[in-house]
Amino acid sequence: PSEQFDPDPNKKTLVILGTGWGSVSLLKKLDTENYNVVVVSPRNYFLFTPLLPSCTVGTIEHRSIMEPIRNILRHKKANVKYYEAEATKIDYEKRIVYARDDSEIKGDIMTTEIPFDMLVVGVGAENATFGIPGVREHSCFLKEVGDAQKIRKQIMDCVETASFKDQSDEEIKRLLHMVVVGGGPTGVEFAGELQDFFMEDLQKWVPSIKANFHVTLVEALPNVLPMFSKQLIDYTESSFKEEHIQIRTKTMVKNVTDKYIEAETQSPDGSKQIEKIPYGLLVWATGNALRPVVKDLMSQIPAQAKARRGLEVNEYLVVNGAENVWAVGDCAIANYAPTAQVAAQEGAFLARLFNTMAKTDAIEAEMRELSAKQATAKPDDRKAVLEEINERQRQLRRVKQIGAFSYSHQGSLAYIGAEKAVADVSWFSGNIASGGTMTYLFWKSAYLSMCFSTRNRILVIFDWAKAKAFGRDVSRE
Ligand code: FAD
Ligand code: NAD
Repeated sequence: PSEQFDPDPNKKTLVILGTGWGSVSLLKKLDTENYNVVVVSPRNYFLFTPLLPSCTVGTIEHRSIMEPIRNILRHKKANVKYYEAEATKIDYEKRIVYARDDSEIKGDIMTTEIPFDMLVVGVGAENATFGIPGVREHSCFLKEVGDAQKIRKQIMDCVETASFKDQSDEEIKRLLHMVVVGGGPTGVEFAGELQDFFMEDLQKWVPSIKANFHVTLVEALPNVLPMFSKQLIDYTESSFKEEHIQIRTKTMVKNVTDKYIEAETQSPDGSKQIEKIPYGLLVWATGNALRPVVKDLMSQIPAQAKARRGLEVNEYLVVNGAENVWAVGDCAIANYAPTAQVAAQEGAFLARLFNTMAKTDAIEAEMRELSAKQATAKPDDRKAVLEEINERQRQLRRVKQIGAFSYSHQGSLAYIGAEKAVADVSWFSGNIASGGTMTYLFWKSAYLSMCFSTRNRILVIFDWAKAKAFGRDVSRE
């Protein structure tokens, strides 16, 4: 097929932004032959984020959890256009997406306009920094493959620099202090993975760092993992203590410099003070913020004036106040947590909705034809045509039965290091809270089964086996 955009004029153009959990789940189940489907995303692959923390220390190699979007699209019945570009602006009135190719190789054309009849916004979220000075300049985030690669490199850089000849004791301590800010699941899982790396490999390969390598998790609230039950929070905190990961709760970072963070801490008597905490590696995991393209779209829609955290959507995931625009995942606010689980279910719901809408359109077109036929039919034939119209009406009622989106929570799972995990899992109508090694095996099998493809699954199994047999690779790329 031609690489030029050549939409079928008889079909509506459906533009999908993003190739993350929401958009890919929609693409997987969408009958693409019903629409001119165009996908725009700067990332030409789907990323299985739950295993990203494992990539920061080499337990898993990043390519094992990536699935090329081209591979996903080539299995669709009808041709889907994919443009590797970032949507820079959505003009809601004109129904145009403006896109820019920001990749390293520059072609003659770097920006373009993509008209749409229907639009799905699935661009996810940015990293929240709350405007705290120095965060963007000095810390690593943990959202994309590039972030995990940067962290992996910096861990080894800290270790090698700390081992440099004549380094002072104080500087060695600083360089080997690994600070993680944010006690949500991202921060907790990364801290666990990092301590595993140290305990299982680093301290054997570089014994000189043994006394000074420390992982600290900093959290502003009184406890970590607020979305888990109290029992699992306590389990995680005591398990971290055993693993020698320090948790600093009620510690809010206010400023970041290249060598230390400044945090407001609270004494037992309630008094507050600012403490300087030196670090070698700083990983910032304080949750989500709006992307500029989403903020701009919200500013064009009066009904979104009060929205703060994302595009407010109704029960069919239609962006409130906007016709033919839907939003899924972390950029949509539908009263659920911003998780992969929610985004995937929302994407699958939209696929069902769009497949249904296409069927409805087809039946309605048939009904219009039959009505015209009935008007001109001979009296003897009229009864048969009427019966056919009634049959279409029955079909239409059945097809239109698609209810509103309802989220089914399967549970929360997080790896906490030392081959332990915590799980709050829905079981029939109840809830099971468990933590420990059995839960870790459950975590492993659950995430393995959720991997995008058999290829991903096999690669992850190989990576786990490789890390167990030979240890993680400590070379700095
Ligand atoms: P994303 O998956 O982030 O995808 C957004 C897509 O939009 C990307 O393809 C991006 O390249 C693209 N994009 C960005 N800007 C633009 C633009 N301007 N124009 C076009 N495209 C754009 N959730 C769980 O339920 N379980 C877990 O175990 C879990 N673990 C996680 C671990 C980590 C380290 C992280 C960071 C998150 C984890 N999450 C987990 C949360 C989960 O990853 C997110 O909730 C989920 O990715 C949201 O899906 P999404 O489709 O909204 O966004
Ligand atoms: P989060 O929003 O869950 O947690 C961020 C934490 O950072 C909060 O506890 C907050 O109090 C703390 N914080 C904010 N500012 C701070 C500051 N200045 N100083 C110290 N602490 C500060 O963020 P996340 O962990 O990145 O997760 C984002 C989303 O992705 C969540 O919805 C989460 O459920 C999901 N996720 C799920 C999993 C999993 O299920 N295993 C893993 C990762 C992410």
